[in-house]
Amino acid sequence: MSRLGAISVDLDSLPHYCRIQGVDEAVLDERARALVASAAIPRFLELFHRARVPATFFVIGADLSQAGMREALLTARAAGIELGSHSFSHDYALSRQSGEAIARDLAQADEVIEEATGARPVGFRAPGYTLSAKLLQAVAQRGYAYDSSVFPAAPYYLLKASVMGALAALGRPSRAILDSPRVLLAPRTPYRPSLSAPYAKGDAPLIELPMSVAPLTRVPFIGTFVTTAPWAAVELTFRTLSRDELLNFELHAVDVLDQSDGVPPVLARQQRDLKVPARKKLARLRRLFSWLAEDRRCVTLAEAARHLSPLV
Ligand SMILES: [Zn+2]
Repeated sequence: MSRLGAISVDLDSLPHYCRIQGVDEAVLDERARALVASAAIPRFLELFHRARVPATFFVIGADLSQAGMREALLTARAAGIELGSHSFSHDYALSRQSGEAIARDLAQADEVIEEATGARPVGFRAPGYTLSAKLLQAVAQRGYAYDSSVFPAAPYYLLKASVMGALAALGRPSRAILDSPRVLLAPRTPYRPSLSAPYAKGDAPLIELPMSVAPLTRVPFIGTFVTTAPWAAVELTFRTLSRDELLNFELHAVDVLDQSDGVPPVLARQQRDLKVPARKKLARLRRLFSWLAEDRRCVTLAEAARHLSPLV
């Protein structure tokens, strides 16, 4: 059986980065607010088309009201891209809300995504990658086939903790929340989670597809790593993942944007990868996607879930 490769992109628009970085959203003009639809999605579609690979976009329900977003997603869907849910409000503390509030948010996301694109999501990714028993139960109740929120990356966890501490010390608290350190003990590869403890194995009616991190070091093999790390480290980490049955490569829309697209300097100073030229990032992604297409059968996460669900 050939191993699978899946590429997914969280379509977070710049206002969400302002919130996590503690930057006033007023710095964003109309162009900056619409960059995901006007620039990032077309660049990704071009990359996928060239590499002949499918992919999954995780859509934030509230962002569908942005200029051009609906049209961009319809184009993506016509190109065979799966549309998953990244919640309605992208509240970083969604996992801590009440069960009813979570259910309302997820239902609203499904409604607007289906109404705008005709696609009903079968997969979910939590804002800020943070799950809780309540959140996973709500996801399962909606009948999703899979969840892909688990990110058991040690360096990411420590970095997030230190950045949040630094912002708080500067009097600019981030709206992000820190997950339970238990996520660091979560399985690295697809598993059937427990509905009462999402980072442990159990018998949930859906499958969890964790984002790829390297064995042992738990270095996150994600878009920012591939676009900014020394290339030798990217190659080495890619090789350490070669035995995994699924390589679940996660990106963000900003991974193909840079400051010259109209990102305000104050945001680029905080979100450093926006200072790397998009041209350079696109070249690296093109290379990685060609490796993926050579080594693995590339599928959407929905297909990966269908394939792996009976096996875990
Ligand atoms: Zn997000």
